[in-house]
Amino acid sequence: MALPWRDRLLPLTWIVIRIDGRSFHRFAEVHDFQKPNDIDALNLMNECAKAVMEDLPDIVFAYGVSDEYSFVIRKESTLYGRRSSKLVSVIVSLFAASYVFKWQTFFPDKKLQYPPAFDGRAVCYPEDSVLRDYLSWRQVDCHINNQYNTCLWSMIKAGKSKDCANNELKGTRADFKNEMLFKQFGINYNDLPAMFRKGSYVFRKKVQSNSGGGTQVSKKSSFVLTIEHGDIIGDTFWKENPYILG
Ligand code: ATP
Ligand code: ATP
Ligand code: MG
Ligand code: MG
Ligand code: MG
Ligand code: MG
Ligand code: MG
Repeated sequence: MALPWRDRLLPLTWIVIRIDGRSFHRFAEVHDFQKPNDIDALNLMNECAKAVMEDLPDIVFAYGVSDEYSFVIRKESTLYGRRSSKLVSVIVSLFAASYVFKWQTFFPDKKLQYPPAFDGRAVCYPEDSVLRDYLSWRQVDCHINNQYNTCLWSMIKAGKSKDCANNELKGTRADFKNEMLFKQFGINYNDLPAMFRKGSYVFRKKVQSNSGGGTQVSKKSSFVLTIEHGDIIGDTFWKENPYILG
C-alpha cells in the first residue's frame, strides 16, 4: 500500500487520468458492435465522460477514442488532496457506473451481457506544451488506428480472412491505405465522420446569451459542457478557447 504522501501527485501540474475498457475487444464482440466503429458505443462513451465532468468541475477537458478517455484535471486542483488512488478510483468507477446506467438509452434493443470494467492511471504534466503533446499523441493514435481499421474491415467485409487482411496491411504507409480505400472500396477517407477520424473531446464552451429585455439587454456568458470532434493538434482550438488551459 502506498503511503498517503507517496500517493500525492506533484502540486501545480496537469493531472491526466486515462481510463480504458478492460478486454473491450471481447466486449465489442459479445455486444455485436459495428466494425470498425460502432457509433452508439462511441456516443455512450462520450455521454459517460460528460457525466464525469458534470460531477467533477476540476476536470477542464477530456479526450476520448475507442474504449479510452483521458481526463485533464486543472493544475491548481486540490481535489482529494491530489491523491492518485482517490482520483483514479472515483473517476473510473463513476465512468463505469455511468456506462451501465446509460446503456439502455444508447442500446434500447440490446441487453448488457455482463458488467464492463475500466482500468485507470494518473500521469502529471508540468508544462502546458507537454500536456498539448500528450493530447496530440492520442489524436494521432486515433487517426492511425482508424485508418488501419477502416482498411482492415473493408477487406474483411469484402470476403478476406482477418489474418490475410492483416498480413496485406502490415508495414504499409498512410498514402497506400488512403489509395486502397479509394480505389478498392470507393471510400474517401476525409468523408468519414469526424468522430471516427478525430475522436471526441468534452469541454465547457463559453456561450454568450442576452439576458433582460427591452433597453436593459445585457450580454451574459455561461459555460456549457460540449462534445466536439475537431482538431486539437493545431493551435486554433486552443486559441479560440483560451480559458481551458488558462
Ligand atoms: P485491454 O484490457 O488491454 O485494454 P482491450 O481488448 O480493451 O484490452 P484495447 O487496445 O483497449 O484492447 O482495444 C479496444 C478494442 O475494443 C478495440 O480494438 C475494438 O476492437 C473494440 N472497440 C472499442 N470501442 C469500439 C467501438 N466503438 N466500435 C467497435 N469496436 C470497439
Ligand atoms: P466519502 O466520500 O468521504 O466516503 P461518505 O459520505 O461516503 O463520504 P463514509 O465515511 O464513507 O462517508 O460513510 C458512509 C456513510 O454512508 C455512513 O456514514 C452512512 O451514513 C451511509 N451508509 C452507508 N451504508 C449504509 C447502510 N447500509 N445503511 C445506512 N447508511 C449507510
Ligand atoms: Mg489497453
Ligand atoms: Mg481496452
Ligand atoms: Mg483501448
Ligand atoms: Mg471516505
Ligand atoms: Mg464513503
